Amino acid sequence: MRGLVFNAPKDVRVTDVPDPGVVNPTDAVVRVTKAGICGSDMHIYNHGDAFGFDAGCRLGHEFVGVVEAVGPEVRSVKPGDRIVAPFWLSCGECHFCKKGLTTSCVQGGCFGFQAFWGFGGHVEGGQSQFVRVPLADGTLVKVPDELADVDDKVLLPLVDVFTTAYHAAKGSGVKPGQTALVIGDGAVGLLACQAAALLGAGNIVLSGHHDDRLAVGARLGATHTVNSKANADRLGELLGDLTNSFGPDVVIDAISSADSMVHAANTVQPGGTVSWVGMEVFLGAPQLPWDTCFLRNLTIRGGVAPVRSYLPELWPLVISGKLDPSPVLTHDLPLERAAEGYEIMATRAEGSVKVCVSPN
Ligand SMILES: [Zn+2]
Ligand SMILES: [Zn+2]
Repeated sequence: MRGLVFNAPKDVRVTDVPDPGVVNPTDAVVRVTKAGICGSDMHIYNHGDAFGFDAGCRLGHEFVGVVEAVGPEVRSVKPGDRIVAPFWLSCGECHFCKKGLTTSCVQGGCFGFQAFWGFGGHVEGGQSQFVRVPLADGTLVKVPDELADVDDKVLLPLVDVFTTAYHAAKGSGVKPGQTALVIGDGAVGLLACQAAALLGAGNIVLSGHHDDRLAVGARLGATHTVNSKANADRLGELLGDLTNSFGPDVVIDAISSADSMVHAANTVQPGGTVSWVGMEVFLGAPQLPWDTCFLRNLTIRGGVAPVRSYLPELWPLVISGKLDPSPVLTHDLPLERAAEGYEIMATRAEGSVKVCVSPN
């Protein structure tokens, strides 16, 4: 079959790779119909060697598709079922799975993310025609019958970017009518506006550096957008106007760099929450102003989204049409052009937010 592999920094390519098969009785094999290229794939693309990725490693942790084969112990899905695959494997039975923290599953691991195989799962990526899914019963989720006709582009963001954004919005504790600041106009930041709107936030202020992406954020639920690169003072003025100078009730930081986390902690109002889900913390831990956090009673919380646990509450929103995260998927390419998709993401080409590929 064909699959995308990491070769070296800035060098990914679609090539012939071995067909996956059922290895363990709890495995499934999925025929991939749509796979996403993620902002976190960009970290592999740029620094994969530093993160311990071997040449030839198959990438892709975001995919949806159809079950092709199952092992004899798989009960919840069967060949022909349309499924979504949360990016993190989970057994569904351990202490952490039972409390909903599926990304801490004792047997877990991340598809196509060699750096996160230490937990037990050793799983190749889904930017390929087929992928082996260990722990299929605890990992895969069958798409509800009501969504039989829905486009894969509506489902694909549920396996990571939308649900990561939703995790951030829930973690912020934003209440109806409150003011939220969302930092970052990548796919997660844009979808955090949508998630905050679903949770009833009043003012949703999106801060980013790209006018084309900010426009997508406005379409998804941001009530105000600020290009903080072109107009550095505007954000503070706007937040002051909207909140009696108190600052936003919550800040959702979809970047989570050293700079953005400090900005978030200094901007949120006393008693507020900074909720963070960005991967940049792996590139240098932010040095938070802890004295400020203490004096202003801030809550700082965040982490990797337990996607599998959120899906039951998201399906009704998709079925009713209240949730359609597909506008972030600006490019859909054949698998053979996946390397071009990485280039579009890496250069943040005009009009691009997120690229997906269609392997079958
Ligand atoms: Zn992702
Ligand atoms: Zn588990």
